[in-house]
Amino acid sequence: MEKEEILEIFRQAGAFLEGHFLLTSGLHSPFYIEKFKILQLPRYVEILSGEIIRYFSGEKIDVVVGPAVGGIILAYEVARQLGVRMAFTEREEGKMVFRRDFELKKRDRVLVVEDVVTTGASVAEVIKRVEETEAQIVGIGVLVDRSGKKATFSYPFHSLLEIEAQTYSPEECPLCQQKVALQKRGSRYLS
Ligand code: ZN
Repeated sequence: MEKEEILEIFRQAGAFLEGHFLLTSGLHSPFYIEKFKILQLPRYVEILSGEIIRYFSGEKIDVVVGPAVGGIILAYEVARQLGVRMAFTEREEGKMVFRRDFELKKRDRVLVVEDVVTTGASVAEVIKRVEETEAQIVGIGVLVDRSGKKATFSYPFHSLLEIEAQTYSPEECPLCQQKVALQKRGSRYLS
């Protein structure tokens, strides 16, 4: 699939919002990715997971691992299509860990997946947890990279869509100057 088709899926699902948004960082942005508009639609998750699989089709994969919450859905669907296991990491007192008796075995080949990469910090933590086992990371597949190429990993990294992180401080925001109403978005906004 072409990037344009992927973007069209995001638009159709209402996951790619255009307007004037206040991000967790305090910065303003003319767009926002509402990832659960995609993740709530199994048909889209199926198609996009298939695209991640297609990219890593040359690799043998035994386990698909993603970080909670969005990464669980994606890891499950990718694993389902591959006919392999899945596992997920979650935060326990702020630290990303494997719980629930998930176990990576020696020589397990792991594909790490995530929905949206903004800084890459969550994926980096998942990688660390996997590296602490004897399993081997095959690559990292994500739906959207909005890090502006700032998120880099020491394994093959593929994103279905790259969106340049266009953000402004309130003082220099052109949308504020145009008096466009500001919307608060983001699951981490409450923190
Ligand atoms: Zn603004």
